[in-house]
Amino acid sequence: MKNRKVLIVGAGFAGTTIARVLAENGFEVDIIDKRNHIGGNAFDFINTNNERIHKYGPHLLHGDKHSKAITFLSRFTKWTNYEHKVRALLKDGRTTPLPINRKTLEDVFQIKLKNEFETKKFLDQLRVKELNPKNTDELFLFNFGEKLTNIFFRPYTEKMWGVDPKELEIGIGSRIPVRTNDDDRYFNDSFQALPDKGYTSLFKNMLSHQKINLELNKEFEKEMESNYLHVFLCTPIDSYFNFCFGTLPYRSLIFEEKKDSLRKLSAPVINFTDKFKYTRKTQWSLLPNCPEVKSNTFTFTYEIPVDIKKNPGEYYYPIHNFQSKKIYQKYLNLAKQNKKITFCGRTGLFRYIDMVPCINIHLGIAKKFLNKFKAE
Ligand SMILES: Cc1cc2nc3c(=O)[nH]c(=O)nc-3n(C[C@H](O)[C@H](O)[C@H](O)COP(=O)(O)OP(=O)(O)OC[C@H]3O[C@@H](n4cnc5c(N)ncnc54)[C@H](O)[C@@H]3O)c2cc1C
Repeated sequence: MKNRKVLIVGAGFAGTTIARVLAENGFEVDIIDKRNHIGGNAFDFINTNNERIHKYGPHLLHGDKHSKAITFLSRFTKWTNYEHKVRALLKDGRTTPLPINRKTLEDVFQIKLKNEFETKKFLDQLRVKELNPKNTDELFLFNFGEKLTNIFFRPYTEKMWGVDPKELEIGIGSRIPVRTNDDDRYFNDSFQALPDKGYTSLFKNMLSHQKINLELNKEFEKEMESNYLHVFLCTPIDSYFNFCFGTLPYRSLIFEEKKDSLRKLSAPVINFTDKFKYTRKTQWSLLPNCPEVKSNTFTFTYEIPVDIKKNPGEYYYPIHNFQSKKIYQKYLNLAKQNKKITFCGRTGLFRYIDMVPCINIHLGIAKKFLNKFKAE
């Protein structure tokens, strides 16, 4: 009888998705994680004040309501509808909607814009239209002009990535929508929600299968490979190969928790536009799947972006540039030579992926594996 045992390293969305699909198709699945909890970076918990905290920063689920990912996840959770809102803190203490919309322009320029047509005309006058953007800074100027770029994007992007936005490829800036209506939602997607009992509960349900065996506090070692038909590695690809082609660059985050009995923030997440170290703060009690809090001393999490050397092992945002793409390609070529392993997840694929695309990609990886296995 064929060995139908697979090892999955990493119990985040990538690993857990593969684990569930393979278990449902008759494979024995061992899944390990070096952390003491499931859920990867989407892990959440309830604190002593009954607030639901996302340990690794606010995670808002958004995507296409017809996607395979949403259908798949809906088997394991009920949803609390939630359209995320973010406001930016201006120098004078006022907050204003982000992404920029009609109201943001009115707040910043202290004007009244009658309708979308007038707003578009006003924004057009600000834009540096003659540019043919080749980097994120030029794209900001092209879309929003000098003043808005200086307020909302240059200081924030510099803090976030630790480099001048001129050095960032255009893809980073193109994630920010340009709006001339009153839409103040952070995302445009047709499905926006939070798991009603949180992400950790969703992960528990996904992992609850007789063919899935979970072990936490367990670090991957290469010797483990020989016991399995196949190994799925949601781990940094450069580390697996002992950094033989160099280190892939990542940006990390340090989370600082503060307690405050201040009045409610104007949105669950406030972005800081100044040059000070924080990029944003989150008031957890304002997310609608937070249970009723016990006291009015609320928890706020502040984020400080740092070089990964200052926060070793906490890989958050892969930094894509010409050099890092070249290095990644070399690792990928090496990985392809070993048919027993598949690199997955953000760090295995060296790619920033939101949760819904992450599940779609890994449903695909699981399917490809099943097809290959059947064909052999
Ligand atoms: C700050 C932040 C905010 C985000 N906000 C959003 C959001 O609002 N909306 C959204 O859609 N997405 C968001 N994301 C993206 C989301 O976190 C990812 O889509 C998701 O985490 C990808 O899952 P993953 O399994 O690839 O990685 P991870 O969640 O990182 O899981 C990988 C797991 O592998 C384990 N591991 C690694 N190496 C080893 C080893 N050698 N041995 C054992 N275990 C190992 C790690 O401990 C980790 O638990 C955010 C990401 C970050 C960093």
